[in-house]
Amino acid sequence: MNASTSLQTVAKTKILNGGPLPTVIAGPCSAESEDQMLQTARALKNDHRVSIFRAGIWKPRTRPGLFEGVGTIGLEWLKTVKQETGLLTAVEVANTQHVEEALKHGVDILWVGARTTVNPFSVQEVADALQGVDIPVLVKNPVNPDLQLWLGALERLNRAGITDLGLIHRGFSTPNNKPYRNHPKWQTIQEIRNLALGIPLICDPSHIAGRRDLLETVSQQALHLGADGLMIETHINPDVALSDASQQVTPAGLDKLLTVLDLESERLAQPEQLQDLRNLIDRLDNELLNVLFLRSDVSKRIGEYKRLNSLDIYQANRWQQIVEDRLKIASDTGLDEDFVKAIFDTIHSFSLGIQNEVFAAQAAATSEKQP
Ligand code: PEP
Ligand code: MN
Repeated sequence: MNASTSLQTVAKTKILNGGPLPTVIAGPCSAESEDQMLQTARALKNDHRVSIFRAGIWKPRTRPGLFEGVGTIGLEWLKTVKQETGLLTAVEVANTQHVEEALKHGVDILWVGARTTVNPFSVQEVADALQGVDIPVLVKNPVNPDLQLWLGALERLNRAGITDLGLIHRGFSTPNNKPYRNHPKWQTIQEIRNLALGIPLICDPSHIAGRRDLLETVSQQALHLGADGLMIETHINPDVALSDASQQVTPAGLDKLLTVLDLESERLAQPEQLQDLRNLIDRLDNELLNVLFLRSDVSKRIGEYKRLNSLDIYQANRWQQIVEDRLKIASDTGLDEDFVKAIFDTIHSFSLGIQNEVFAAQAAATSEKQP
């Protein structure tokens, strides 16, 4: 695994609810008309679990000629949605013009799409356009399962001063995605969480599933894995949607889905707490191993010193002193003394081994030089 990162982030005020419930982002794949936007938003407004309204304004399409979004006019509709419903608004941005237009129209949250995250040039362009702007930005995983690319996008935005960051897991393109549209590769959630510590993660079951009937199981699994929220494409009339028709739900469908998911008990469920604790253990083990590495390096240097000064490798007094001192610290700290003694026996015997190797390497070098 590649090195983790040191992202400078702050408490999430908009991305997360601030309460115990997962964030729900809902709204159409694409803004299509003012009527479609307002009807969808008015229906969602009554659902207290939904806090953010999404809509694609510029649509990145795999093939040209498909519906490529309504463009800037859609931002006017979004503004009306915000004024009328009080919902926060979110759009996808992929270049400088998108960023400027979205900011001009008072969009609350931006997201970087999967086809943009794959390209560091595009991500950098978005980051540059956001230099000095205080706005939350969510980053979707790249289309291909490359976590370094995902992490790199967060870092580029962070270096431009964006501190309110979030991840969106929308699945990956793999050789066999069945039955999904994009394979969830669930283990990557854990992996990216360990790399981007403390960054909230929203699952986008719509783009993972690609079809309505899979939304429930995908959402449930994401929540079990500790996702901080869901982004679910919702359209007032999905069957006639101009993009992603088969995966969008109606506001009533969303209501049903969220009710089945039972968000409140999900938040309190055991597996999620267990996952938090496991993440903590992973971090502590990492630190422990780092310290052991540093210690073994010092043992090697001590070996050199003893060899140069013709001292014995094993020094009984020193070992006695170490045991007494470490056991005292153990008992002051509240650690079991037998446990600590066993650990230090092992550490000490490895340390002697390292020093023996230093002596042996020198002996071998000297004998090679003998005629
Ligand atoms: C979208 O959210 O509508 C979208 C285009 O998603 P993605 O970037 O995940 O494909
Ligand atoms: Mn979509």
